[in-house]
Amino acid sequence: MCTLIAIIDPNPDTKILFFENRDKPDELFQGDEMRVLQPNNVVALFDRRSGGIVAGYSAETGVFGGVTNVPGYPAKGSRGVVLMEVLTESANLHEAISFLRGKLPSGHYSSANYILGSNEAVYKLESFGKKLHVSSPRKRGFATNNFVSLTGEKIIPASRARFNWLEKHFIRKRKLKLEDFLHLGSFHNEKVPDAAVCRHSHERLGYTVSSFVFEITKEGKANFYYAPGPPCTYKYEAIFLTS
Ligand SMILES: [Zn+2]
Repeated sequence: MCTLIAIIDPNPDTKILFFENRDKPDELFQGDEMRVLQPNNVVALFDRRSGGIVAGYSAETGVFGGVTNVPGYPAKGSRGVVLMEVLTESANLHEAISFLRGKLPSGHYSSANYILGSNEAVYKLESFGKKLHVSSPRKRGFATNNFVSLTGEKIIPASRARFNWLEKHFIRKRKLKLEDFLHLGSFHNEKVPDAAVCRHSHERLGYTVSSFVFEITKEGKANFYYAPGPPCTYKYEAIFLTS
């Protein structure tokens, strides 16, 4: 749950591009897989241990979301389950934001960054105990494992380095295409190794266990890609799912 990017109108042919490289979580990892969840036809990267999701897109409502863990406030509530609930139970982006505004400040959930969006806007939500910060609506949203607006998290220098690198060299590019995102998944960043997006445990930076990328074209066609391991080794497969 470590590198998360969503961009609206990234190029003239594409409405939404979404990227998540999932790095080995602090909990015991038991594998993940692509599933379609009901209601709302949510195409999701499903986590077998928690029974929640890392990221997903509702083919019915057009609302999508992802979560990255932020260390510092551990709690019993599953971030992946709350993300699954918000995507399967909300009729639109407004409802989805309201749903998390209602749930997260209970203090029952471990600290995290959430990205929620639709074809209109992207929001970033930072959650730490009973504190919640919701960004203004944007065209581009991204997150690693640290906060920008809230404080209190346990700072991971490599996560900060990755955030800074992405902000400077990737997110601001005027045109981004699906190929750029698929390439990013296996990016080892030889110049700034701490800012690698594809991560390997021998580098002390965590280990990328899977990757999920999707695009929604201007015509409304949805294309999903999943790599069941670090994308440098496990090539992306196009996913065709029916519920
Ligand atoms: Zn790699």
